[in-house]
Amino acid sequence: MRKYVIMGVQGSGKGTQSVLLASDLDLVHIAVGDIFRWNVQNHTKIGAQVRRTMAAGELVSDDLVEGVVGDRLSQHDWNYGFIIDGFPRNERQAEFFLESYDIDGVIHLELPDSEIRRRVMARRLCEGCGMDYNLIDNSPRADGTCDACGGKLVQREDDTEEALAVRLREYHTKTNPVLDIFRRKEYVVSIDARPDKDQVQQAIRSALRLPPYCG
Ligand code: AMP
Repeated sequence: MRKYVIMGVQGSGKGTQSVLLASDLDLVHIAVGDIFRWNVQNHTKIGAQVRRTMAAGELVSDDLVEGVVGDRLSQHDWNYGFIIDGFPRNERQAEFFLESYDIDGVIHLELPDSEIRRRVMARRLCEGCGMDYNLIDNSPRADGTCDACGGKLVQREDDTEEALAVRLREYHTKTNPVLDIFRRKEYVVSIDARPDKDQVQQAIRSALRLPPYCG
């Protein structure tokens, strides 16, 4: 059983890299932002609570996040392990997490802020199935349409210059201390996220001493 955390600013490729790793190793990919987006789209009570906060690029309250993560992990559908993406994002969440789970590694994707801005503005999401695209190097076959389900591609509500600036500030002030906690426990592998996605995945595999990525 393997348990990983993946960290990195928005647009650093956490989702893409998590999916590549999870599908090969049979891990469950838990993306906390996706859980919240699903709730917003489906007009649940949680969705109503987080919608504005998310759209502004701010962090949702710790109690709410910890409840959602605790519920998701308590489903125990992760026989071979999990990779969690988007959590923990501050010191309190890190402590909550470390109290309940031992982890095998923290993947830290590193990307300069200027590159993040370029990637985030090019990001598109399928309204139907949630598949991620990037107009720089992962465009859909037909403009504005999801390859997988034919759904409409839209920009995330929080992928605006204003919300991105807030998210980057949040990340640097709140999430960097989380990395320090994990670094002290020697869990962290830092990976340069600028190369293409296959190269980044390969670098993750080598750093974690996992079998090579075959594409
Ligand atoms: P993401 O898709 O990871 O960029 O998350 C989208 C949004 O969901 C964030 O900007 C936050 O508003 C919220 N969110 C996701 N994960 C967390 C977390 N661990 N703590 C607080 N808010 C979160």
